[in-house]
Amino acid sequence: MQETVATVPYNITFAVVPFSLCAIGIFFVFLPKTNQMRIDIITVLPELLESPLNHSIVKRAKEKGLVEINIINLRDFTTDKYKSVDDYAFGGGAGMVMMIEPVYKAIEKLKSEREYDEIIYTSPDGEIFGQKMANQLSMLNNIIILAGHYKGVDQRIRDYLVTREISIGDYVLSGGELPAAIITDAIVRLIPGAISDEQSALSDSFQDDLLAPQVYTRPAEFNGWKVPDILLSGHTANIDKWRHEQSLERTGKLRPGLMEED
Ligand code: SAH
Repeated sequence: MQETVATVPYNITFAVVPFSLCAIGIFFVFLPKTNQMRIDIITVLPELLESPLNHSIVKRAKEKGLVEINIINLRDFTTDKYKSVDDYAFGGGAGMVMMIEPVYKAIEKLKSEREYDEIIYTSPDGEIFGQKMANQLSMLNNIIILAGHYKGVDQRIRDYLVTREISIGDYVLSGGELPAAIITDAIVRLIPGAISDEQSALSDSFQDDLLAPQVYTRPAEFNGWKVPDILLSGHTANIDKWRHEQSLERTGKLRPGLMEED
């Protein structure tokens, strides 16, 4: 009798150990990829990037280890005592041009340390930045963003060193730092885990080619201006339906054609 009692745990051990190993294996196979993205921004004005990338969602994403953002001072890659990064344009004309040598050295150093998916140059004549591009870029591992200045960069940087050129709109800014900050912010908030309520990024404007519905908070009435009754009803399904209808209506009114765009 005693023997049978002793064999029970023995048999269980044989069944449980392989099962546990199998379960651990499955757990690791299906573990979602943690996106530890790295964004290196090359600039001659690091100060311009400090504040925009050190607050709010971007700050929290860095603290959570979801993204590492490095600001690289181009002047650290100069050799002369004035730390020059620009020179006169060949052929004459107004405005200075960013030289290739410091940019080449900065990019080569970064590339010797890891592989990069994209080396982006911010430029008014680049591809226009939008939510779809932000989605694509947020899935990459390592990217470099080169912020231009002055009249722009020596064309050979664009021809030989850069893999993608991005504009944030049809207007000219003084430098690529604000575009770099905008691109980085738009990318980082899309990294899973960057926003606590993950649905929140997905329900933003332009995801699904729709503008977001209007939002309200307390008080329910202010100065006689009321929040739509439906939002106070507590009927989640009806509220979702209403929000979707509002999205469609706002998109039709404010951005007709958005749904047809690529
Ligand atoms: N002479 C250039 C403009 C240079 S502006 C031209 O006419 O196209 C200086 C730098 O600011 C550029 O090199 C670029 O890096 C950045 N920049 C300016 N406007 C930009 C925009 N709309 N999108 C992205 N980068 C921009």
